[in-house]
Amino acid sequence: MSPFPHLFTPLDLGFTQLKNRILMGSMHTGLEESYDGFKKLSAFYAKRAKGGVSLIVTGGFSPNFRGRLHPLSAQFSTKMAVRAHSKITQAVHEHEGKIALQLLHAGRYALHPFSLSASSIAAPISRFSPSKMSQRQILGTIRDFATSALRAKEAGYDGVELMGSEGYLINQFICRRTNKREDSWGGEYKNRMRFALEIVKAVREKVGHEFIVIFRLSMLDLVEEGSTHEEVLILAKALERAGVTMLNTGVGWHEARIPTIASSVPAGGFSWVTARFKGEVNIPLITCNRINTPHLAEDILASGQADMVSMARPFLADPEFVVKAQHNKVKEINTCIACNQACLDHVFKGKRASCLVNPQACYETEFVMERVLSSRQIAVVGAGMAGMSFAVTAAERGFDVVLYEKTDKLGGQFNLAKCIPGKEEFKESIRYFTEKLKRLGVDVRLNQVVTPLVLKGFDEVIIATGVKPRVPNIKGIKHEKVIDYQTYIKERPILGSRVAILGAGGIGVDVAMLLTHPPKQDLDAWLKEWNIDKTLSFAGGLASFSHEKASKEVWLLQRRNGKTGKGPGKTTGWIDRLVLQKRGVSLLGEVEYKKIDDAGLHLLIKGKAMLLDVDNVILCTGQASVNDLVSKVMQQGQKVHVIGGAQNAGELDAKRAIRQGVSLALRL
Ligand code: NAP
Ligand code: SF4
Repeated sequence: MSPFPHLFTPLDLGFTQLKNRILMGSMHTGLEESYDGFKKLSAFYAKRAKGGVSLIVTGGFSPNFRGRLHPLSAQFSTKMAVRAHSKITQAVHEHEGKIALQLLHAGRYALHPFSLSASSIAAPISRFSPSKMSQRQILGTIRDFATSALRAKEAGYDGVELMGSEGYLINQFICRRTNKREDSWGGEYKNRMRFALEIVKAVREKVGHEFIVIFRLSMLDLVEEGSTHEEVLILAKALERAGVTMLNTGVGWHEARIPTIASSVPAGGFSWVTARFKGEVNIPLITCNRINTPHLAEDILASGQADMVSMARPFLADPEFVVKAQHNKVKEINTCIACNQACLDHVFKGKRASCLVNPQACYETEFVMERVLSSRQIAVVGAGMAGMSFAVTAAERGFDVVLYEKTDKLGGQFNLAKCIPGKEEFKESIRYFTEKLKRLGVDVRLNQVVTPLVLKGFDEVIIATGVKPRVPNIKGIKHEKVIDYQTYIKERPILGSRVAILGAGGIGVDVAMLLTHPPKQDLDAWLKEWNIDKTLSFAGGLASFSHEKASKEVWLLQRRNGKTGKGPGKTTGWIDRLVLQKRGVSLLGEVEYKKIDDAGLHLLIKGKAMLLDVDNVILCTGQASVNDLVSKVMQQGQKVHVIGGAQNAGELDAKRAIRQGVSLALRL
């Protein structure tokens, strides 16, 4: 008996069946526009179809030029596109998967001067002002959606998903926030939802009945002047009547200043939104957002909150997520830790998406695993993320690997990261690599201080010894109130009520989060922290709740000018900054540290002297590489490779460390 009976119950859509309840949600990978991208995309999707996912939704393709996100981004409307996309659909069908093309018109989110919208109101996240669509343009766009859907069918797609959420064009027509028209496409709700309904009707007319049409419905806009719950219900029912096969959940516009998928969002934190539609429509409902384990997905289905579960990033982290769940090998799943660092952060910078914990994602044709013919003996020193990712990949290729670690734990810096509120899931990466080391029979030696002598006889030596905290040269740095971040996170000593954090990089922000986190935060408390009204009584799902300040007074300091406490990620930095502001953390830049003494921390801020009478000072002032073994082992005449923080502490991050480990192991 499967441990996930609901997940693996087929879903009958009448004209076709989905073999399980797991949908791979739409993700833009950057391959859609790149040279040779379709070959790579085919390999990417084929691997996920082979891994058992029942229905894949592609990244968004615009039905016409003006709907593109930026001038060179993907469009699907021509016969030529049909030929190119046929490669993808064939590859997926060869593995008995199904695939739908997402049609997305960016509307006012388009980053070019030809953008169009219901009204001429610029988005706060775009520097371009859209033109108000004429009646002719509206009808033309509806036709373009229908033509693209027909072409999708010709290309072998099993369906389309119409992007009606996240604040894109269809959503812009639906909400008062962006639709100030006074004609038959604006004003009362009946008119504002007309654009969405006309698109569905036109699409259905072109593609016939035996074709999946998913509508991604913005069930919770999370912006002012968004739809009310009653309005969304009316639209959901009308969409069903217009011929939609399934309704997918959309939560939050891109311009909403509320996190919806970051790691700090509680797992499954929005499935209650989808549940409000159960019993109101008769078509299957798909839920999504922060679902990353089969247990959570099963619970959501078992509790009747939805009929199908959509996951996107978990399929970057592990293409075999479904088949591993099906065969009760959950411990072997490489879990998505919702960091966004290699997926969304890349896409927002115009780079190809990948995955921090699985650098092979979107590089399936480039990072190819080849078994070695003759094995070599390899020693890896340091079992942080760089060392472990190297060790498992090398062992998988057939090398004989010994992994040395001086502490009693695998995982290096991830053991610190997992203690930060909102980053608890980092422990899953340690679990995944630990399991894999075991399965591959890697000889792991904990509590082993490695000397050059220990390494004699190995064919290759990998130094992955990581970093140690940098201690800045400040008068009084040895004062008893000073502590480095590693010691603080590991030992959690009781601190006074006033604390200064020196250094506002990723780690300074993490420490500030840890210091100011409320003692207990369940889903309801988290929703309140972000002013989300679970009763759905107001437009956009927003309300205004009062917020308590943290019990500690905290200063987060940096020497540099510029934004303080923004964290390293484009898609998460703004969240960190907002949370810290809500909790009353003082973010100060252009600081010069003068001395630390019994009175506190003496500073110059923009040249002006100041004393922070703090009880403690936590050093988050960067790191220094630990690599003293390198030269000694080289002197023994051995081949040495240095990876991760040991190679470059300045740009230490887990994404680079894991990628370096995998890529070196594939090259050897
Ligand atoms: P970091 O981002 O380089 O920050 C180090 C901080 O120390 C900076 O604020 C720097 O700013 C300050 N600093 C450097 N030298 C100093 C000195 N001699 N005296 C006083 N201050 C000094 O590094 P980190 O915070 O240690 O993080 C390390 C890596 O971990 C980062 O690359 C990051 O990507 C990764 N990380 C990521 C996350 C995440 O959420 N994604 C979280 C934690 C860590 P000033 O020079 O302006 O003072
Ligand atoms: Fe998940 Fe991070 Fe990988 Fe993105 S980069 S898929 S968020 S683990």
